[in-house]
Amino acid sequence: MPGAGRKLVLVVIDGLTPELLERGIESGRVPALARLVEEGTYARGVTTFPSVTPVCLSTLATGAGPDVHHIPHLAWYHRGEERIVDYGSSFPAMRAVGARQAFRDAVFNMSHAHLSARATTVFEAVEDAGLVPASINFTCYRGRTRHAIKLPGLAARNRWYEAVYGPRRFFFFNLFESDETGAPLAVRSRVDGSNDAYAGAIGRWLVTRDGFDFLVFYLPDFDYASHLAGPSSPVDALVRADAAVGQLMEAAGGPDELLARYAVVLCSDHGQTHVDEVARLQDAYADLALLAPRRGDPGAADVAVTASNRSGMVYRLGRCPLEVRDLAERLDEVDAADVVAFREDGEAVVRREREELRFAPGPGGGWRISGDAAVLDEGGYPNGLERVWRALANPNAGEVLVSARAGVEFLDFGGRHHAGGGSHGSLVAGDSTVPVVAAGVDAPAVDGRPSLTDLAPLALRYLGVPPPASMGAAALEPAGV
Ligand SMILES: [Zn+2]
Repeated sequence: MPGAGRKLVLVVIDGLTPELLERGIESGRVPALARLVEEGTYARGVTTFPSVTPVCLSTLATGAGPDVHHIPHLAWYHRGEERIVDYGSSFPAMRAVGARQAFRDAVFNMSHAHLSARATTVFEAVEDAGLVPASINFTCYRGRTRHAIKLPGLAARNRWYEAVYGPRRFFFFNLFESDETGAPLAVRSRVDGSNDAYAGAIGRWLVTRDGFDFLVFYLPDFDYASHLAGPSSPVDALVRADAAVGQLMEAAGGPDELLARYAVVLCSDHGQTHVDEVARLQDAYADLALLAPRRGDPGAADVAVTASNRSGMVYRLGRCPLEVRDLAERLDEVDAADVVAFREDGEAVVRREREELRFAPGPGGGWRISGDAAVLDEGGYPNGLERVWRALANPNAGEVLVSARAGVEFLDFGGRHHAGGGSHGSLVAGDSTVPVVAAGVDAPAVDGRPSLTDLAPLALRYLGVPPPASMGAAALEPAGV
């Protein structure tokens, strides 16, 4: 049987840019990561739009874009439940939408209620093939095995789920642990990298027992440090992520032994760019009735505007006097808005600096384009057409999508931002480009550039499991169908 006995580890370092990985390796301070690059292939890949963690991790888990997995942004308007969802833009933003609701949405609803049931996850596909999937702290985790929550009293009081469906071996910030490992508490101090230390300890336990066929090893602390200090400075935080990967190597008896037992793919979910200005996207619609983030009445509102980090969405509600194009065109006057996208007559319309580009999938796999192609030039906005198309084709997305200008961040519902530090979410190359390192397995690459959507099917093929139909380029259909 092809692939029999093969095992693979996918390491995801949140927010790691190719530049910082390269600088870390040059500094000599990240020996485990350097070893993976030395043994494998290294490429610059492209992530999704919006380039924010819930959307990107859902793409990693499902091998598909937001058009298929349906997670639209960090903050969005849920049309079915007529309320704002925020997966944790910041603590004040979570308070603004209701802290308990935000926690429920991030930890439970995203993987179970919001993630499309038709998008098979890599964990489901691995377990369906009779193999053992494992994940540590990965927030898009839906799988086939029921796991009871470790804190049932707290769960009952807060209306958390009493159990979830995750990968067979499932470790999630001490809330769910499929096995007793003796790992330390995860949620002590993100600045000191306690989540990554927790992941390292669990990873060591799993590798020591050879306890999986496929492991997603997710390290969130780097992104946190990079938001604070900016994307060009925090080699220290990468040293901690490197130590966690080093723990996997030690557990195997050394890097050679780890790589003899497992193929290892390393990537990040999105990049980061410096931000030094902030803008409130809602201000562009101040003359309209805006939906309040908590207990707002959609029947009395014209629009819901959900902004977080470097992207935003505008939802046209029932009584709105303006058409979608009007909602988009008023952002021509807003300096913080760079690329603005919406759908019209079955095509995607993209505006930038008052120039307009229209496109739709053409026959035979290409794009049918009219207008100014430079609006989404490939150098500035890598894979821009496909990423915009897939973002707009998500039924949970706003009618208007906004990508922020370089250096600008949109305030979240709590009024928070990272000015002076780093952020991401936009279509620009710095937010969208991720390192992809593949050791022991050939990474697929179109023109030398892999997409984040490629990695789940890559892992499955390596394991000898046929990727499900929902993975890959399946969903590029004309708009409106
Ligand atoms: Zn981030």
